[in-house]
Amino acid sequence: MTLRVTFLGTGGAVPTTERNASAVFVNREGDQLLFDAGEGTQRQMMRFGTGFAVSDLFVTHTHGDHVLGIPGLIQTWNFNDRTAPLTVYAPEGARSGVRELIHAVDTTPGFPVEVRTVAPGDTVLDRPEYRVEAVRVDHRTRAVGYALVEAERKGRFDRERAEALGVEPGPKFSRLHDGEAVEAADGTTVRPEQVVGDPRPGRRVVYTGDTRPVRTVTEAAADADLLVHDGTFASDEAERAVETGHSTAREAGEVAAAAGAKRLALTHVSSRYAGDASLLLSEAEQPFPGEVVVARDGLELEIPYPDAEA
Ligand SMILES: [Zn+2]
Repeated sequence: MTLRVTFLGTGGAVPTTERNASAVFVNREGDQLLFDAGEGTQRQMMRFGTGFAVSDLFVTHTHGDHVLGIPGLIQTWNFNDRTAPLTVYAPEGARSGVRELIHAVDTTPGFPVEVRTVAPGDTVLDRPEYRVEAVRVDHRTRAVGYALVEAERKGRFDRERAEALGVEPGPKFSRLHDGEAVEAADGTTVRPEQVVGDPRPGRRVVYTGDTRPVRTVTEAAADADLLVHDGTFASDEAERAVETGHSTAREAGEVAAAAGAKRLALTHVSSRYAGDASLLLSEAEQPFPGEVVVARDGLELEIPYPDAEA
């Protein structure tokens, strides 16, 4: 099952020629989910070939650099005769602003658009194989982060053992794997626990949007395969990070370390590091022993299963 994260916009409040305004695209086995849509997001989607069939748009907050891409997306979907419904999620208090953006231009969406209000802790999207939860963050305005959490997968099926127990390969294998007892060739009963291992964990990806370091993110990112965290500033701008409700790279590293995340991607990089973001990388690496990347526009991260090497 593919789980791929594509960074469409990794800049801070003011875009630069290298870094567009915030947007993170997630492809989960063909499901296309978009987290934030800064100005120019649709062009970044074309540029990086993500596909355009977004079913769900998760808005972290309504600062312009996270939502000004919405009118353009709506207009282009209209030109493309989109008919598929779109669901937009936004924190409490942001709903009317999002609605205005959807209807900002002289074009009424020719497809159903539903705007849902979300609160921290809510499961906002619930599909059989994964869910998306809203996470409490701290950003001087009503804001949430989001966690994509996959369901546990079935345990490994031990083919050789099943055959040794006298089960003929075929439909009985899948019945056993689905948790059903079957009859072996000699008439004995073979139970699933004899041939199926323990359930295996799914993957977890957390996107904070803009935030100060907070415990709720640490909790949501426990053992996460990828934490995409606000890394707007380096430590020399620590005061400014507090004033503006952002995090330093070091703070993001501390959150990732406390959470036991496997990988950390810093985003929302301030324009003052436009030329060289290596300082952010080294600051985040100090507290965090896992892999750190400073995201750049177009960066694609494939998220493997925790047991992928087995
Ligand atoms: Zn913001």
